[in-house]
Amino acid sequence: MKKIIIILSSIIVIIFIILMIFLFNTNSKDKDIEEVKENETKEEITKDDDNEFSKLSYYKDENLDRYKAYQTSNPDLNIEDIVTRVNLNLDKDTYTDTIPAVNLNTNYLLVNKFNYLDSNYIPDNLELLDNSYAKSGIYLVKEAKDSIEKLISDAKNDGMNIRIASAYRSYTYQENLYNNYVKNDGVEMADTYSARAGYSEHQTGLAVDVTRTYDNFNNFENTDEYNWMLENAVNYGFILRYPKDKEDITTYSFEAWHYRYVGVELAKKIKASNLTFDEYYVRYLDGTNN
Ligand SMILES: [Zn+2]
Repeated sequence: MKKIIIILSSIIVIIFIILMIFLFNTNSKDKDIEEVKENETKEEITKDDDNEFSKLSYYKDENLDRYKAYQTSNPDLNIEDIVTRVNLNLDKDTYTDTIPAVNLNTNYLLVNKFNYLDSNYIPDNLELLDNSYAKSGIYLVKEAKDSIEKLISDAKNDGMNIRIASAYRSYTYQENLYNNYVKNDGVEMADTYSARAGYSEHQTGLAVDVTRTYDNFNNFENTDEYNWMLENAVNYGFILRYPKDKEDITTYSFEAWHYRYVGVELAKKIKASNLTFDEYYVRYLDGTNN
């Protein structure tokens, strides 16, 4: 009798185990099916939402409607240019929807008519340039200063006479300068050739205006020094900041004399890319913290 009870209960236990295994399997299969279904719906949603812009690493979801609108008004532009320009806010008027500049005290600090510096921003490590290289009282961030002094002295060995006519400008200096221009020419005109206070790259301590022995800036384009700079400045970490035919991106007229220090490595990359600093920033530097 005992034997029978043991056998019977064993059978019951075995049946119970088999039942549990069976139940568990169906359950997980159902789950699998549910998951597959869920994934399919997700894929469908992404497919619906899929747009040619989102392939780009610098695509921003919140700008999607603006990309579409910009594409409609600029049908000849490619996807890369549309996303780049909208990310730069170039679909808006200059000096509107402006934001405080980020990456302060780095070589890739972007300042333009949409990204401004605070009135009390003074870059770290400003140093006075030796007046054999520059007019008196000209300051730059140390790294840029060392580099431009080396550039000028190497250029001299090639028979070039490069001098720095302007570099770091404080917020107050820029404010007075701009206000004077406005007094003489009005806001609209002044905005075409001068940055408003806080929006001038000169406040970064990384920008220089180069001349041939303090000639007029407008004449610089016609000098050997200009051509020397175009070819060699990159090796010292400087890039031409407002190039020809890029006015619609930089929002500045071509400035043959205005160079910006970004460091040698980055300067070479930017030059090779054929992009302006603004475009390069949007595509490769925006969001980086190193
Ligand atoms: Zn300048």
